[in-house]
Amino acid sequence: MTELRQAWTELLARRRSLAASLAPYGEMLERWAAWTPPRRSLSWSAQRCRESWARAVPLAAEAPPPLDAGDVEDLLGGAMEEVAAVDPARAPALQRLAGAWDAGAIGPDALLPRRDGLGDGSVEAASGLDARAVAFLSYATLRPVLEAWLEPARPHFTEVDWGRGVCPFCGAPPGFADVVEGGHRRLACHFCGGAWGFAKLRCPLCGVEGSKDLQRLQAEGEDAGYVISGCRACRGYLKELDRRERWNGGPPLLEDWASPHLDVVARREGLRKPLPALLDLARTP
Ligand SMILES: [Zn+2]
Ligand SMILES: [Zn+2]
Repeated sequence: MTELRQAWTELLARRRSLAASLAPYGEMLERWAAWTPPRRSLSWSAQRCRESWARAVPLAAEAPPPLDAGDVEDLLGGAMEEVAAVDPARAPALQRLAGAWDAGAIGPDALLPRRDGLGDGSVEAASGLDARAVAFLSYATLRPVLEAWLEPARPHFTEVDWGRGVCPFCGAPPGFADVVEGGHRRLACHFCGGAWGFAKLRCPLCGVEGSKDLQRLQAEGEDAGYVISGCRACRGYLKELDRRERWNGGPPLLEDWASPHLDVVARREGLRKPLPALLDLARTP
């Protein structure tokens, strides 16, 4: 978490003109870094992890982290305030969520990704919030917990034939894509900080194959190296960064947060990101 704060400072130096609108992300990183409850870790062996992956099951789907509502309350509360600040129209639904949380009707388990992607809809049902806001609140709340929980399993994910468009560690949809050495594509998870390789000509969001459904919007000038990688079949997109072209890029999560102007372009094209950042939730005039 300390590395993320350091990397954020460096990224902001490159994005000075956006610094004011990006300020809430700095506060989010501070909250994550200040999160103090004991960090528990999954103790599965390499063999046990690989057995799960061979069945195409993300680890946290079978071994979720133990979650205590009190431990993550401050993280959720802070994220809710930020969502209310970027679009006050969500305030009544956020109030209902706070009520359901206090009454114990909704707990942190409801924020966990499932075997096939995001939550079961119980948060939306209890609060009236839209799925996009719930997705953001979920990772803003659970990232420190999931990152610590899944950390010991990272080294076991070598030469695993995964092939799914969700995170092999926690089950969330990808938040960002990197193009690395050899032109290979790596998807990044905002929920747990995991990463996994994925075929270049396949949509990770709907599985459609082949270049005819790809819609690639290449950024230029000072954003050279960034691409909006969209899909004509499902209208989903991810931002992608070619690390060979931009060796000084930051961690994928921060690169996603720090390029909201590219999301504006993608939205204008009618594309949707599977996992919204805070600024993707802002009310559009
Ligand atoms: Zn993950
Ligand atoms: Zn698709």
